[in-house]
Amino acid sequence: MWTEHQNFPTNDTQRVKRRRRLMDIRRTVFGIHKRLPTSVPVCETFIYNLSSRERVKIKLNEDRLVDTMQAQATIGQREGGGLDRVALSPADGEVRDWFHEAMLDAGLAVRIDEVGNVFGRREGTELDAPPVLLGSHLDSQPNGGIYDGSLGVVAALETVRTLNDHGIETDHPLEIVNWTDEEGTRFQPAGHASGSSVWVGECEPADAYTTVDSEGVRFGDALERIGYRGNATAAPGEPYEAYLELHIEQGPRLADAEKDIGIVTGIVSRSWGSITFIGEAEHSGTTPMEGRRDALVAAAEMVTAIRRIAAELGENTVGTAGSIEVVPNSINVVPERATVTWGFRDPSDSTVDTARAQLLAEAATVAEREGVEWEYTDRMRTYQVDFSNRCIDSIRRATERHGYGGVELVGGAGHDATSLAKLCDAGMVFAVSENGKSHCPEEYTTWEHCYRAANVLATAAVDLATVDSSRDG
Ligand SMILES: [Zn+2]
Repeated sequence: MWTEHQNFPTNDTQRVKRRRRLMDIRRTVFGIHKRLPTSVPVCETFIYNLSSRERVKIKLNEDRLVDTMQAQATIGQREGGGLDRVALSPADGEVRDWFHEAMLDAGLAVRIDEVGNVFGRREGTELDAPPVLLGSHLDSQPNGGIYDGSLGVVAALETVRTLNDHGIETDHPLEIVNWTDEEGTRFQPAGHASGSSVWVGECEPADAYTTVDSEGVRFGDALERIGYRGNATAAPGEPYEAYLELHIEQGPRLADAEKDIGIVTGIVSRSWGSITFIGEAEHSGTTPMEGRRDALVAAAEMVTAIRRIAAELGENTVGTAGSIEVVPNSINVVPERATVTWGFRDPSDSTVDTARAQLLAEAATVAEREGVEWEYTDRMRTYQVDFSNRCIDSIRRATERHGYGGVELVGGAGHDATSLAKLCDAGMVFAVSENGKSHCPEEYTTWEHCYRAANVLATAAVDLATVDSSRDG
């Protein structure tokens, strides 16, 4: 295995030169011209035959995968379980150092970009073939779990290590990545400091630098403090073949269906907003029931309407009234103002639009009946993401080849892959979340389920990194 410990050159000419040099080294050292011999021995841990790609099946080293998961879980570990590894905290710095070293040990060329995304690259045998990128995030929620994000990064690392173990070269380069601040819990406004969003051009590095945490610490300063403000531009700089991300499901659907693998076909459409009713504050003892203009009574009807609308629109729609604010919020006063929030999610944009429209129509009816004024604010709208058929097919084939039970589903939460889907073909693999819990120390995925999902990721990655991977197996 040829190794490279330098930062990846950012200049294109340099890059081409370096690739040529790499090819020369390969030819000299290994006698390899362009690709491996077409028949590679089949051993217990992998089956890989370049002349018949339908047989690609990569099995990782299970013990090492578990060891690596446990190693990362000791960084930012909480007493009694779980993780405190919030973005750009000292613990995040420490886990990045650990990951950085592991990538160098695996022979990857490491580069760090200006918003702290950390990449490791393993060259392919085809000159100028676009890379296949694998990754997720190592930051956690405060009091979070040890699998959310970490499993995807560790599985990407183990994919590279296993290919190294068996001397498997891919046609396309493989890159692995740890994205900065996926959780969006520390720096506000939320989302602007997401490394994957910056990388695909959804926001500028300057937007990220100026976000601040609750203590007034700027993202840019926190990034410098942990030593991860890199030199590389936070942008692809070249075309990418595909992006794959393994993540825990964070919901109960796989466990309920007794399946191993979630073949994720997309990410739901979301609409969040709030409705405020404005009535009249009056003494609750001396004001007769008739003629009251009670803002909270109107808001209460919205709470049940949100649930009813979601139920009527179909089994894929969810609707939540997550919060209510009441003014003056006194036991002895008829409420003057009440603000209730809505959150609708569904795989389809049009269903989410329908849910929102039905709710606003109902708000108008309720306001008239109760004799109150009303207004609404849209707080966020994200649109459905459809993952590429090529990636979905590749993940499905990998699941079948391993003999695992897979089910297609649409992810209910945003991920780094949501941003990457705007840039290149993208896909996601979900691993079973026991009890469907996440963002808490009780978050749990069995090692067996971690292993199975990681095998699917590795197999799909090699499939996509093989020229003419669109050929069906
Ligand atoms: Zn995550």
